Amino acid sequence: MNGQNPVFIPGPTNIPDRLRLAMAAQTWDHRAPDFVDVFHPILEDAKQVFGTTKGKVITFPASGTGGWEAAVTNCLNPGDTVLISRYGMFSHKWILLCQDHGLNVEIIEAEWGEGAQADRFEAALTADKSHRIKAVLATHNETATGVRSDIGAIRAAIDASDHPAMLFVDGVSSIGSMPFEMDAWGVDVAVAGSQKGFMLPTGMAICGVSEKALAACDAAACTRSFFDFKQMAAANAGGGYPYTPPVNLLLGLRESLDMLTAEGLDNVYARHARLAEGVRRAVSAWGMSLVAKRPELYSETVSAIYVPEGFDSDALTNHAYDTYGVSFGVGLGEMAGKAFRIGHLGSLTPTMALSGLATIEMCMADLNYPIELGAGVAAAQEYYRTGAPLAMAAE
Ligand SMILES: *Cc1c(COP(=O)(O)O)cnc(C)c1O
Repeated sequence: MNGQNPVFIPGPTNIPDRLRLAMAAQTWDHRAPDFVDVFHPILEDAKQVFGTTKGKVITFPASGTGGWEAAVTNCLNPGDTVLISRYGMFSHKWILLCQDHGLNVEIIEAEWGEGAQADRFEAALTADKSHRIKAVLATHNETATGVRSDIGAIRAAIDASDHPAMLFVDGVSSIGSMPFEMDAWGVDVAVAGSQKGFMLPTGMAICGVSEKALAACDAAACTRSFFDFKQMAAANAGGGYPYTPPVNLLLGLRESLDMLTAEGLDNVYARHARLAEGVRRAVSAWGMSLVAKRPELYSETVSAIYVPEGFDSDALTNHAYDTYGVSFGVGLGEMAGKAFRIGHLGSLTPTMALSGLATIEMCMADLNYPIELGAGVAAAQEYYRTGAPLAMAAE
């Protein structure tokens, strides 16, 4: 690998030079008096990306999975019932984690390519007269299938059934790249990770936590220690961590928040929407289809694309890596061999996206796919030529 090619996996994402430089720092004593001055504003400023003014942002040295664990262990008791829909690898793995913690998981099964169907949540919550269900869990952006779910509609379903359940949302592959409205959607715990929209290396779970979720911690008896919200919040209030913080990642997060703010969050979201639509135009020019079943489910951060019958998507992604030194997302779980994924999130421009489309076209041509070189690239170019200039181009 020459290290210059972008990755087109849906996380970890490309790390801009500006963030790499910000993290290339000598050890800084996290108990030094001036660490607080840097640390505190990071947590405050991150709230904007979650769409919260009322909640807190709590970070842990972990990957996104640690954030899942924090959400359920801080707010629930063993044996509590949670309601979740399974429609891809990430919702599936969150279910397994809940089961590992002794929760009773009520699962709404949906076909991969579907999202969280609000009407089915509403029916399940309305039927739960005794309020056994303590939390509703939803994967905002199912990274395995490139499906975005409508979290506002899930909130409306909870409200329509007049149910007191908390709402936990996995926003690992959406927060920082797609609009996320923690307060407006009444989300109690929102989970993000450093390595996707924040454009940093893996190593931090970043959680938005509501007042209601923090209040639930006192009565929640699931086993937890490292991921304890209240201990972390108390230490944060004093300017530190209950243990050693990942200082260099926090310095990276400082810079990442500055980059997102300088571009403007709305512009960041518009850029992702633009990138995604260009990729979808290419897919359609190739005569292929997305795993996501309908336009309202299309993700702005990742597209999962079925390869034609008789072709193996793993051979395609392996070929891209071996021959051109470029990583694309493999098909996960049910999609193994059947679909590959193009991650289009984080530090990415249309110019970079075009290089990915051109590369995967070469791979398809090498492997005798029924496509014409340049067809998808041209469709994306035509689209990227239109519209207002992107804010990022001005930087
Ligand atoms: C990446 C991702 C995660 C977290 O995975 P980790 O490997 O633990 O960081 C969780 N959910 C979704 C939707 C993801 O895309």
